[in-house]
Amino acid sequence: MASLQPARGTQDLLPEAARRHRRVTDTARALAALYGFAEMATPIFEFTEVFARPIGEHTDIVAKEMYTFTDRGGEEVTLRPENTAGVVRAVLSNGLAQSVPLKFFYSGPMFRYERPQKGRFRQFHQIGVELLGVPQPQADIEVIALGSRILRALGIGERVELQLNTLGDPESRAAYRQALVAYFGARISELSEDSRRRLERNPLRILDSKDAADQRISSEAPLFEAFLSGASQDFFAQVRTGLDRLGIAYRINPRLVRGLDYYTHTAFEFVTTDLGAQGTVMGGGRYDGLVETMGGPAMAGVGWAAGIERLAMLIAEPQTPPRPIAVVPIGAAAEAAALGLAERLRDGRLAVDLGYSGNLARRMRRANRVGARAAVLIGDDEIARGMVTLRDLDSGGQSEVAEGDLAAALSSLLG
Ligand code: ATP
Ligand code: MG
Repeated sequence: MASLQPARGTQDLLPEAARRHRRVTDTARALAALYGFAEMATPIFEFTEVFARPIGEHTDIVAKEMYTFTDRGGEEVTLRPENTAGVVRAVLSNGLAQSVPLKFFYSGPMFRYERPQKGRFRQFHQIGVELLGVPQPQADIEVIALGSRILRALGIGERVELQLNTLGDPESRAAYRQALVAYFGARISELSEDSRRRLERNPLRILDSKDAADQRISSEAPLFEAFLSGASQDFFAQVRTGLDRLGIAYRINPRLVRGLDYYTHTAFEFVTTDLGAQGTVMGGGRYDGLVETMGGPAMAGVGWAAGIERLAMLIAEPQTPPRPIAVVPIGAAAEAAALGLAERLRDGRLAVDLGYSGNLARRMRRANRVGARAAVLIGDDEIARGMVTLRDLDSGGQSEVAEGDLAAALSSLLG
């Protein structure tokens, strides 16, 4: 029955996957806090205009990937495809623009109508940070350093490469744009249909095309370098020097442009070769024009977002949950006492798995299946004596313990 399948491009997070996700978000959240980024959350849907104009009409996201619908009240809303525009909207709605610098961390689901494949989903999850109100390159450096630290903490620092580029200031960009229009215009018949459309509105985006013919033509396109203003070159040099000083390795990739329209100056991606075509695990950059585009004051911004699914796939060890204690009652009186005993152990912060039904053998099988470290066996006659049997499920050894001493015995067993 088709309706019993998850919708295309969505997936269930079963416990083992959920543990990997949690490891990524917990690691990122804790390290973001070290840098002074405070967690915040914006709604999962917003008025469509929050995304459409800032991200750019001719980006893949807005042109093809947004989940947009009219709600029952006739409002046009969109499931968020990314979170930078939402964070900026929140800053403006809540009147926070006066209190810069602002540093935010977020995590949560994003939605894009894409062709699902390994590492590419229609509902996926991101962690991200935004640093608003700091025009100096220190902000770019710090934001990249945080990203790099998170990847190292997740144990994948060695498997990703930091690629770096600059998109310059708006003047440099305008000059480069003209050069690209001239270059691609002369070869328009070789371009993909998408890129022919981009040529008019946003020729930089052609450099980001995934079409093979486009990529071949792009490889000979003029480089941004030649069009960078002195100020833009200087800014980029400061970012590079800052990263050098921190010992953060990078490779300049002059073809790196980011998917969204609002980037200026620094653009970067952490890329791995371990995930096939979906190798970008974290991407970001500076977006000094965005706040103004959205109706706010002129305000600098820089940040990144990372795909949690892609990071989770790269984590070596599946994270195992703490091993519980199995409480195994045998007999009617014991059955009645078991819930209370389990609660008392949980009062002491022990994880407890209660076998709900079945004979001793069946409940012991369950205890093994959940990976219990020990079993507390209680029978009717033991209850009468205030005793329980504690069985070490690793060694198989067991002993009788007074119920009052059980918590201490378990603590010493669990180390
Ligand atoms: P791509 O080039 O892979 O489409 P993008 O440039 O569209 O990526 P961003 O908008 O920069 O991606 O999002 C930041 C990160 O979010 C990506 O580097 C990736 O790790 C993750 N991401 C983006 N789209 C998806 C998706 N559909 N499924 C899973 N992860 C995604
Ligand atoms: Mg994309």
